[in-house]
Amino acid sequence: MITREQTINFLQTLKLTIRKWLRGEQAIAEYEDIKFRRDICRSCEFFQQKRGLPHRCLACGCNVELKIMFITADCPEGKWGRLDY
Ligand code: SF4
Repeated sequence: MITREQTINFLQTLKLTIRKWLRGEQAIAEYEDIKFRRDICRSCEFFQQKRGLPHRCLACGCNVELKIMFITADCPEGKWGRLDY
């Protein structure tokens, strides 16, 4: 179950991403950074993979494949951070 706090965290990340995009700044991470994050997430104890469902982070409740694409996103467990291009 996704908590209210998890939803707020995701919406905050989305808001920062959209704000960057509206300013004409890069909002989506480079392929190599997305791959780096994905590799960390897939070996993480909080990574949940269920057949037919999006990959989910049990720490923040986010869809992992979406979250790792946002420059402004960070791992709630400190395993990877925000990007600054
Ligand atoms: S965002 Fe962090 S805690 Fe969540 S699955 Fe990825 S590495 Fe693990």
